[in-house]
Amino acid sequence: MARYIFITGGVVSSLGKGLASAALGALLQARGYTVRLRKLDPYLNVDPGTMSPFEHGEVFVTDDGAETDLDLGHYERFTGVAARRTDSVSSGRIYSTVLEKERRGDYLGKTIQVIPHVTNEIKDFLAVGEDEVDFMLCEIGGTVGDIEGLPFFEAIRQFTHERPRGQCILMHLTLLPYLAASGELKTKPTQHSVKELQSIGLAPDVLVCRSEHPIPEREREKIALFCNVRKEAVIAAYDLKSIYQAPLAYHKEGLDQAVLDAFGISPAPKPNLSRWTDVMDRMENPEGEVKVAVVGKYTQLEDAYKSIAEALTHGGMANRVRVKAEWVSSELFEREDPAPYLEDFDAILVPGGFGERGTEGMIAAARFAREHKVPYMGICLGMQLAVIEASRNVAKVEDAGSEEFDHEAGRKRFTPVVYHLREWVQGNHVVERKVTDDKGGTMRLGAYTAHLTPGSLVSDVYGATRIEERHRHRYEVDTAFREKLEDVGLCFSGMSPDGRLPEIVEWKDHPWFIGVQFHPELKSKPFEPHPLFAGFVKAAVEAARLV
Ligand code: GLN
Repeated sequence: MARYIFITGGVVSSLGKGLASAALGALLQARGYTVRLRKLDPYLNVDPGTMSPFEHGEVFVTDDGAETDLDLGHYERFTGVAARRTDSVSSGRIYSTVLEKERRGDYLGKTIQVIPHVTNEIKDFLAVGEDEVDFMLCEIGGTVGDIEGLPFFEAIRQFTHERPRGQCILMHLTLLPYLAASGELKTKPTQHSVKELQSIGLAPDVLVCRSEHPIPEREREKIALFCNVRKEAVIAAYDLKSIYQAPLAYHKEGLDQAVLDAFGISPAPKPNLSRWTDVMDRMENPEGEVKVAVVGKYTQLEDAYKSIAEALTHGGMANRVRVKAEWVSSELFEREDPAPYLEDFDAILVPGGFGERGTEGMIAAARFAREHKVPYMGICLGMQLAVIEASRNVAKVEDAGSEEFDHEAGRKRFTPVVYHLREWVQGNHVVERKVTDDKGGTMRLGAYTAHLTPGSLVSDVYGATRIEERHRHRYEVDTAFREKLEDVGLCFSGMSPDGRLPEIVEWKDHPWFIGVQFHPELKSKPFEPHPLFAGFVKAAVEAARLV
């Protein structure tokens, strides 16, 4: 039966709860334990699938096809444990399940209330898979005191109460603001946020205090005394240059020890931190630098392409170079020639995206990469646009485009080399979708197998001919144009097992030009860089040497 660690935050948002949870997961693994991380989000959206990447950051997709919060990406990158549908839930999802049950008559006409119906649903969610791991780490989004968060906190209180003593602990993150005028760290907001927790029946066992300055012994004692935690369980969290420093930094501050102490696990197994010391060594001692242009649409918010940014860093680690990624808004290339901008880069990446806006600029970037033999990776939309570019400019299908853009515009303008997929095979069954289905969750989502052509660049990059990658898209490259495109040198080097869906394309006479219909960035880890990102950065290194 798993031990539970609930992770909450107070004082302000964005304290790095997700990172602290992920780092703690990694540290428990380093001590030989198995872990699973979960995220409970108080917002009312049913899932993050339809939330704007501008507002909410990237949508992370799991193997089993759930569209989840980007925090699950952090968890996976730090622990290597593949997240599942049952690792993320929002208030919206909980309420909608409760309401569905009510409509179905499952509650036999009883009055439906937050307590016990909503809280029971949350407790059921917490308990899924508890026999599989040693530790279940459950992060609650938002801050203590938020109205939406209350049912979650109440469910945690009940869950802890119902379990044997010592099975659950609570770790709370707070902020120690620094007053420059008096040169002091203030502990009062931390005390207040712990009081807030106590008022709903919860008491932290471990306090993680974010601070820009070292926490003096005296302040630590004060926090321990007034917040009713042991002094050793007051853990400092200082600002870090890189998120990948977090496991070692938290270990140094004693986080994993404090957690094991709180469970009464003694003696604690010794940690093996070699995975993280190696990651840090690669990160901190690069032997060069390459510049990658990411030409996309959601360039204002860094989190919109979180996994891509991280995967590029991992690709750098694999090659012992620093990757300097620059986000370029593709709309720029609809007004101006991309050459003067893109000449400065060693490689070009066109990421995924939805809608027509900015796509002509991305097509211009793909053309530049093809013509100038600059390493190119196209991810999902970035692959579809590379195919459109090849069709228009090389295979002479001059009006080639995607049905997605015609649907959006409400009129037919293009020859659809990329078309709306209405039916596909998943495992042993056929999935059917109508164009008019709800926007939420109507895509080809999750892990699908692809077969790679032996001898192709991509099979070389993977060192395999059968791969499994995560998908999130509605549209698909049409095999009707395959022959035409292969005749001019764009090879379809990865296909779905039934041969109907193109998964990968690559240019024959080009050092490194690969488009993939899936999202490789979601599976990359610092200690296990994704082969496509490792290969892409390697190509960038080689391109940089040529000039
Ligand atoms: N908009 C495209 C589609 O739906 C690409 C999606 C993506 O890049 N994730 O197929």
